[in-house]
Parts: sequence; C-alpha cells; structure tokens
Amino acid sequence: MLPDLDACIAYLFTAYRQRPNEAVVAVYQHQLADVPLAILRAAVLALPGRQSFFPSVHEIKVACELARLDRVKDLVWTACEVCRETRPGWDVVVDPAGVKRLARCACWQAHQARVAAAGIPLRPIVALLEAAGDEP
Ligand SMILES: [Zn+2]
Repeated sequence: MLPDLDACIAYLFTAYRQRPNEAVVAVYQHQLADVPLAILRAAVLALPGRQSFFPSVHEIKVACELARLDRVKDLVWTACEVCRETRPGWDVVVDPAGVKRLARCACWQAHQARVAAAGIPLRPIVALLEAAGDEP
C-alpha cells in the first residue's frame, strides 16, 4: 500500500474526498520529495483520523515529524554491563603499542548500526513548536 509519493498524495485526495488538482499535486510532490517514504506513508495513513480538512504541506510535515518521533523512540540506546558503571558508551582498549585508549563500546556501535539500518532521519522534518503556534 502506498508504494510511492504519488500514491501517498492520491490517498489524501481520496481520503478527503477531493478531486485531484494538478497544481496542488505538483506542489505536494515538490515539497514532500525529501521525506523518507516510510515516514510519509505513516503520516498520510494517520492524517484522515486526525484532522477533518485536506492537510496543507505544513500539516503533512507535522504529521511526518510525529511519525518520525514515534519511530525514533524505539531506538533508545542503553549501556551494556561492560560500560554502564564506568563510561557509558565507551570501553578501554589496549592498542598494539600497549597504550590504553578509549574506544566506542560494542553496545554503542550496535545501536548506531540499528539507527542507520532503520533509515529514520535524525533531524526533525519540521519544527513542531512553530506548528503549535508557540513563540520560539
Ligand atoms: Zn557498552
């Protein structure tokens, strides 16, 4: 379901019972092109249950940010038993010359690999405080 950006945009027109408008589709294609599809798909599927009117680009991006945050919260790193009590995320290694150095712990490296594999942007898609109308 929703294999690409065009399908996501078409879904919105259908869900909000609007006739597709070429100009609106072109703007949405341009404005949403950088949003990862998995995030956009989750946002588009959630929007009709969340608001009554056809969403603006900004409202879609807010929904995308909420979807991104929902996925990021599952990627919490916790320090392992090796590093938890001393230097969370770091481990002491001895290099070939016999010098003790700090290196990233295996638990931290595994977490970073999970984050990269998830394909979730680490930067916000849109600032949520602006969306809520709050002053910066
Ligand atoms: Zn560790």
